[in-house]
Amino acid sequence: MDEIVYICTGGCGAVISEKQFDEGLVVCGADGCDHKGDSFEKRMKCTKCEQLYKVAEVHIC
Ligand SMILES: [Zn+2]
Ligand SMILES: [Zn+2]
Repeated sequence: MDEIVYICTGGCGAVISEKQFDEGLVVCGADGCDHKGDSFEKRMKCTKCEQLYKVAEVHIC
């Protein structure tokens, strides 16, 4: 089962865990990031190759 993560789509490239998101870390707070203050977006992370993909996508390694 692949992992749920949340990412910032801006320059900082932050990737946070579902747990961190559930605990209230829902927007990017990185200084200098062009998406600072924007909500993180949900992604799936393949546990085999670590590639991130959108929830609606089918990922094949
Ligand atoms: Zn960011
Ligand atoms: Zn994969």
